[in-house]
Amino acid sequence: MNGGRQDITAATGLVVLLGHPVGHSRSPLMHNAAFEQTGIDLVYLAFDVHPEDLARAIGAFRALGWAGANLTIPHKETVIPLLDSLDPLAEQVGAVNTIVVREKKLIGHNTDVSGFLEGLESGWGRSARGASALVLGAGGAARAVLAALQAAEAAEMYVYNRTEERAVRLCKEAAEWGGAQCRAVTHEEASSLVSRVNLLVNATPLGLKDNIKLPPLPVDKLTEGQVVMDLVYGPTATPLVEFARRRGAIAIDGTEMLVRQAARAFELWTGAPAPVDLMRERATA
Ligand code: NAP
Repeated sequence: MNGGRQDITAATGLVVLLGHPVGHSRSPLMHNAAFEQTGIDLVYLAFDVHPEDLARAIGAFRALGWAGANLTIPHKETVIPLLDSLDPLAEQVGAVNTIVVREKKLIGHNTDVSGFLEGLESGWGRSARGASALVLGAGGAARAVLAALQAAEAAEMYVYNRTEERAVRLCKEAAEWGGAQCRAVTHEEASSLVSRVNLLVNATPLGLKDNIKLPPLPVDKLTEGQVVMDLVYGPTATPLVEFARRRGAIAIDGTEMLVRQAARAFELWTGAPAPVDLMRERATA
């Protein structure tokens, strides 16, 4: 039991998280605290939805008139054909982490992009404008990172991925967005870029609890003045964040991105400013 809300009535709306698994998620803690503090009559619940049940879950969303949703792994891309339309940024990234209801239509948004940028800027104290960045990974999170860096007018983007073809494909798509050039790099090239780029981003699960490892790159070449953003987060610093800090670099873990993407989703659902400090407190409690 988490305190037991006494103010839920027949008028209370429901916002859901659909993912598989969802047991680890901090989103219910962040959003329920935010709804409660702002006096907005919504509750947030997480549902573990197997991929083959996603269409039925979206059918339930429509039938039951839910107020909004978040999507997490593995549904961010497969949900797209089930929606009525996409916000242009979600369309660009090809992934949806937030559903907003407007005139009974389900509209897909991607708040990971603004979450990444706000998280980065809050830790770095400046924007990524003109920066060079090496991104590790070529999955959904890496796509959001590239879209964010492009929107922030970064100067150079390099992608290193275990499966090189995916990095090549991702950079080809990113090149079509315009803005910063994107180049897929080999392990050797990535290794030499580690000490040269302004920003190193880990968009792989390396560092997560079942995979507590440093990325397979010479991160001992990191120096003061460089910035590391690890999308992975946990109760303690990830190996990459810990290592980068020891080398004197600025290191930011994924918590701030998590909080900022949630705050933006809250604002889309409610139209009210999000209580970001409270949400951060609940995300890290
Ligand atoms: P995804 O689509 O499954 O992509 C995973 C990427 O990581 C792929 O490029 C994959 O390489 C690579 N990878 C996986 N295991 C690896 C390993 N053992 N060694 C090297 N590379 C490996 O996942 P995603 O949605 O992009 O998410 C990536 C991470 O970002 C997750 O840990 C997620 O929790 C985190 N994330 C955090 C936030 C936040 O708010 N902080 C938001 C979104 C995501 P291959 O192509 O070779 O398989």
